[in-house]
Amino acid sequence: MSLHAAYDPDNIFAKIVRGDMPAVKVWEDDDVLAFMDVFPQAPGHVLVIHKVAKARNLLDIEPHQLSTLAAAVQKTARAVEAALKPDGLTVMQFNGEAGGQTVYHLHFHIIPRGVGQPMGRHSGEMADMDELKAKAAKIAAEVR
Ligand code: AMP
Repeated sequence: MSLHAAYDPDNIFAKIVRGDMPAVKVWEDDDVLAFMDVFPQAPGHVLVIHKVAKARNLLDIEPHQLSTLAAAVQKTARAVEAALKPDGLTVMQFNGEAGGQTVYHLHFHIIPRGVGQPMGRHSGEMADMDELKAKAAKIAAEVR
């Protein structure tokens, strides 16, 4: 998928926003949604998306919507830090297939990191759902 292809309203994250696909949600408001990555690169891997913007990547979101999304990324990262007490956090965002993107609805990854613990593969094992739900609840309790 090139950087300039049309937005596909049936991409996985659009389906999650519409409620057509399940997700383990952490928190949401009218504009943004934070939910657990089902193929986590470390325990507590969260994704944050804009619910209204039909943006595939960083290049085509309106600046005011990006601003809202960036604030949501920070709010979520603070909650992840408070809940899981990682040594560090990796925040990632991919653009286009060549840039490593696999789902073409703009999203940010928040990945808790431990000293000396390498990050898992980008398309690794599917997480245990009960474990994901427990992590989501723990993070959600720290959302301020
Ligand atoms: P990217 O490569 O940046 O486009 O990342 C897409 C991310 O979405 C990957 O980390 C996947 O593990 C994750 N993912 C794919 N399908 C789902 C899903 N149904 N629910 C939650 N996360 C997903």
